[in-house]
Amino acid sequence: MKRVYLETFGCQMNVSDSERVATSLAQKGFEIADSEDNADIILINTCSVREKAEQKLYTRVGEVRAGKRQKPVVGVMGCVAQLEGETLFNKIQGIDMVIGTRAVGRVAEAIENVFDYGSGYSDLGERDPEYDWTVAEEQRHSPYVAFIPIIEGCNKFCTYCIVPFSRGREVSLPASEIIRQVLEHRRSGVKEIHLIGQNVNSYRPKTESGLESFSGKTPFSRLLRAVAATGIERIKFNTSFPRDFHPDIVDAIEENENLCNWVHLPVQSGSDRVLKAMRRLHTIESYFKRIDRLKASSRDISLTTDIIVGFPGETEEDFENTVRMVEYCEFDSAYIFKYSPRPGTPAYEMPDDVPNEEKTRRFRSLEAVQRAIQSRRMQRYLGRSISVLAEKHSARSSEHLTGHSTCHRVVNFPASDDMLGKIIDVTVTGVKTNSLFGEVK
Ligand code: SF4
Repeated sequence: MKRVYLETFGCQMNVSDSERVATSLAQKGFEIADSEDNADIILINTCSVREKAEQKLYTRVGEVRAGKRQKPVVGVMGCVAQLEGETLFNKIQGIDMVIGTRAVGRVAEAIENVFDYGSGYSDLGERDPEYDWTVAEEQRHSPYVAFIPIIEGCNKFCTYCIVPFSRGREVSLPASEIIRQVLEHRRSGVKEIHLIGQNVNSYRPKTESGLESFSGKTPFSRLLRAVAATGIERIKFNTSFPRDFHPDIVDAIEENENLCNWVHLPVQSGSDRVLKAMRRLHTIESYFKRIDRLKASSRDISLTTDIIVGFPGETEEDFENTVRMVEYCEFDSAYIFKYSPRPGTPAYEMPDDVPNEEKTRRFRSLEAVQRAIQSRRMQRYLGRSISVLAEKHSARSSEHLTGHSTCHRVVNFPASDDMLGKIIDVTVTGVKTNSLFGEVK
């Protein structure tokens, strides 16, 4: 029996792809290893969103080759594989096979090919029509939390982003298949599902099969109501695209307790001029309308975002608008990035004219503003009882468990192992910038 070790970088989509690759390899007689030691095959599922993805892959392949076992088969999957294709064989010594983002259903065939005919195998083809989206219980990243892709790819072409090139155009999964997976996960003890995709609220399946009896202003809000009706305890969704974020999504959350109190709505900039250059397809006014609806909700919805500072052409005035936008929105959390050009994107051709020191200054200044808002926002949980899914042991202490609240905050609390997998009420007794501490009452 050949042993396969899968190493995953990047977003939830990559984690989910790796889970399905592990599921199908296990079904085909491979053993899924939890360490690279003695693995016959090492699969690296790559991400190209961060800087220097190729350099990191080069380093990682070198480490694998220098590892204990002299000659495992090394396969590269994910976005770097899709974007670079066969050129990787020349660029990085030691790679045996390259498997694109939509060819993940054929990894077993790729491995067999390398064992039969030697290295140099690549598959950048499309997904098989009969591709199996099932994830076996033992291959999930958590026994209690499951990721379910509902839409793949992206049609938006934001000028800084490589995803439409690495993941292809938007394809929505049939609602009936999504609901089937939710019910199956529920039966196997999953408490929380994440409906995932680059832009979940752009969900637009070919037919409405499975959604006929659910109302809603968009296919996504109908899907949310349909998934809520399965009775699964918790539903989260990520990521939302501001232009397609219809207020009916907030209505659906208010109607269904199991739709969680968390929305991630990446704004990227507070300047309309920069948003236009980024081709984000929303304006600050339209974004604020969505924020106003979320803030007016009867549910205490936690709001998180992504922001890029130092995009080409961003002036001091543009940046000040971003600061004002952050002060207005009062995000519960924000992932702030300094712009860095990605080869292959339209923005790569724009002059990267904000000096690095200035990007750093803007980053630090915005981070300080956000940190102050976040600390203040976190105080509202103090003394409150919040519902938490006990997911695993805390890294700090074996007597503490850790999990996420419905508002997607990390919560640590003392508890015994028999609480694992349960949704429990925790009274918040301590607040940090990014996490909460509490006691089970
Ligand atoms: S919406 Fe924009 S940022 Fe998001 S994946 Fe698509 S192109 Fe990238």
